[in-house]
Amino acid sequence: MDTNIHDRDLEAPLLMIPGPVPVAPSIMSALSAPTLGHRDPHLVKYFASALKKLTDLVDSRSGLPVVVPGSGTLAMEMALLNTLPQGAPILVVSQGVFGDRMQQIAETLGLETNVLRAEWGKVVTTDELRHALRQGTYAAVTLTHVDTSTGTMIDLPGLAACIKQEQPDALLIVDGVCATGGVEERMDAWGLDLVLTGSQKAFGLPPGLALLVAGPRAQAARTALGRVRSYYGDWERWRPIMQNPDGYFATPATNMVVALDQALTLMFEEGLDARYARHRALAHALRAGLATLGFTSFPAAECQAPTLSVLRYPPGVTPAEFLAAMYQQGVALADGIGNLAGQGCRIGHMGNISLEAVLQVVDTAERVLQPTQASGRAAQVAREAFGSIVHTDSHPA
Ligand code: PMP
Repeated sequence: MDTNIHDRDLEAPLLMIPGPVPVAPSIMSALSAPTLGHRDPHLVKYFASALKKLTDLVDSRSGLPVVVPGSGTLAMEMALLNTLPQGAPILVVSQGVFGDRMQQIAETLGLETNVLRAEWGKVVTTDELRHALRQGTYAAVTLTHVDTSTGTMIDLPGLAACIKQEQPDALLIVDGVCATGGVEERMDAWGLDLVLTGSQKAFGLPPGLALLVAGPRAQAARTALGRVRSYYGDWERWRPIMQNPDGYFATPATNMVVALDQALTLMFEEGLDARYARHRALAHALRAGLATLGFTSFPAAECQAPTLSVLRYPPGVTPAEFLAAMYQQGVALADGIGNLAGQGCRIGHMGNISLEAVLQVVDTAERVLQPTQASGRAAQVAREAFGSIVHTDSHPA
């Protein structure tokens, strides 16, 4: 058995699946610093600093940040568990596997669930949502900002405004797992009551943390519930730690907390607008480069997410063979899931990804698909596409 972690590291591929994602060196070194106790004054400082930056990231002045060991699915469950009583009617807006997962969680928790589902590769429009909201009254509406199965992104501010207008009392819960930190999300300005995510996506951390920010209305909803049917998942039990991390409820993932603070520091050093623009430019570059090889985007043009690409293969390509060949050449990509299992190819480009990583994907794909005539042209097209977007974004008309 190979137990040498360093040998395994040397073989690690460029991780371009839609999470987990590559981890930047400064985050990696934060992770590998000696483990601190949860009440160590340094840890307390990192934790408080990370929590403050987390609320700043999503533009929430009085939101309660909640960071616990777990993954995005735990954050989804905690969001519903802490805000809605059993039997409450909710509308789940779904454009793929993860919206459908929200429905499953809601049903598991005993909520009365209606689903407004977009056709695969499309998103629910404001008109469709308005129509659905006129058919019933809901305690909450859930939205998936970016669905990782279809590569689609909703018009979050537009749908949020529609919900505010039609049902101002409904809580607005946003699954930001494939978006937060890579796409703008403004809780206060757009009226979002709760945003949740996981560490392994646009934060550029390894898997291991569930993150939520609960706005004032979501916190009031928790208070109104009294008791909830979970111990670990009850954010009221975590609240004292989130307000002052110098305490104990259950052991936090201390190395991950230090790394979270570093990940958020990187975000603010880059600048949020610049970071979001980089995500758009990388998406554009990847798609332009792979288009020269015959790949086409699965999602409709108006709703393609900047954090990942879901692509159809050029004619004649066998998905499993292509993915295996890419992996052999040092690039890990993901197969489709849900309706696209064994069909679409999913490529993540979120977090602290550089243009070089995207160019490596494109160049490797060219060599895999056109071994005899590969010229580097696909990567050249990608590089030019990146430049044109960055230029446009940095010089708004
Ligand atoms: N929501 C979305 C949009 C996701 O992409 C994912 C993970 N791919 C999840 C929820 C679930 O997160 P996790 O796998 O971290 O539990």
